[in-house]
Amino acid sequence: MNPSAPIQLVFRNIHKPNSHTLPVYLEGGGYKAVTKALARTPEEVIEEVKRSGIRGRGGAGFPAGIKWSFIPRTSAKPKYLVCNADEGEPGTCKDRDILRYDPHLLIEGMIIAAFAVGAERGYIYVRGEFFLESQRVEAAIKEAYAKGYLGENIFGKGVRFDLAVHLGAGAYVCGEETALIESLEGKKGQPRVKPPFPANVGLWGGPTVINNVETLANIPNILDRGGAWYAKLGVEKSSGTKIFSVSGHCNRPGNYEVEMGISLKDLLEKFAGGVRGGWDNLKGVIPGGSSSPILARAACETVTMDYDSIARAGSMLGSGAVIVIDKSVCVVRAIARISRFYRHESCGQCTPCREGTGWLAQILTRLEAGGGRPGDIELLEELCGNISGKTICALGDAAAMPVAGAIRAFREEFVYHVEHGRCMVE
Ligand code: SF4
Repeated sequence: MNPSAPIQLVFRNIHKPNSHTLPVYLEGGGYKAVTKALARTPEEVIEEVKRSGIRGRGGAGFPAGIKWSFIPRTSAKPKYLVCNADEGEPGTCKDRDILRYDPHLLIEGMIIAAFAVGAERGYIYVRGEFFLESQRVEAAIKEAYAKGYLGENIFGKGVRFDLAVHLGAGAYVCGEETALIESLEGKKGQPRVKPPFPANVGLWGGPTVINNVETLANIPNILDRGGAWYAKLGVEKSSGTKIFSVSGHCNRPGNYEVEMGISLKDLLEKFAGGVRGGWDNLKGVIPGGSSSPILARAACETVTMDYDSIARAGSMLGSGAVIVIDKSVCVVRAIARISRFYRHESCGQCTPCREGTGWLAQILTRLEAGGGRPGDIELLEELCGNISGKTICALGDAAAMPVAGAIRAFREEFVYHVEHGRCMVE
């Protein structure tokens, strides 16, 4: 985190001592936005969020206000709001800071979201490893109940919202919203076939909105200052601020909240302390978590941190986990490691993912160990093509994209491995 960052919306409190407690949150103006929201109609609140242009911060980047508007106004079954705090994308550690240091910001955002969509019950699905974080959130929920911010007739407005924490067990695939729902229902966390989508048939068959922690933590600011104000931050189609988790070979790794559209170079040089050994020592950057294709250095010179710019460069903004890779790294080795992760996390329901992730990991591990064969690179490319877009959930794509992207950007390293049985950088 960088206290001198020009604008801090989500991280506005976290530098204060005891920022996770209600008195500190209230001192900083907490729970004012929710009273503003409750004075309006749910439709007006959704319009305000649409106006902000905020896109989901979990990875998919779907506009949050539009997602909310998919929830039917009336429903025979109860409606639910679920916060996805599973944060499993390797490299991502931003939601963890929000849960740990400012749980009331998330709770306030959830109350507003629940009011907008008409949900009377909400869950925060926290990955099991985040034990301290779950305790902080539970304590904050208790404080909120004691003040009458949760429960029946909140803020005396005749609105009901009950909120509970559910701990997951650390499966990456439970970050996928339908797998998360299955897990919340007490079943094995395996993604559902869509449609139907959770907005119509979600938790226990009821209409359900699932939003990421950072998305919900932005909502109080949007309702407080207005969607139009928020939309002016950042760049077109990527409004607001974003927390980037910068890790790897930089001098000051950490979570940095900056306006969307900042250049990758500025993010690394001005905030993350620069690349280890200087900019010239940069080999590439994984810009959006391990599932996003690696960008070679030439692309890193010009790309800006927004959805469109990164897509044009051939990768994805994803969850905003920026992994810096310097010239000491063997790309084949790094990608082989990532492949083994996805093989481990595949839930096994669909053949292209279950078998394909295993084959990718096997071939890459053999290649990295010096056992490469002619045709391996083409085989890897064919496998990626046979996985992408052919599975129930996006984990298949998440496994294939980094492999295909690495071959695209660093083909010569793969060829060297096949021809010499060892790494180019040794
Ligand atoms: Fe499971 Fe993989 Fe199919 Fe997703 S793509 S449902 S993780 S087998």
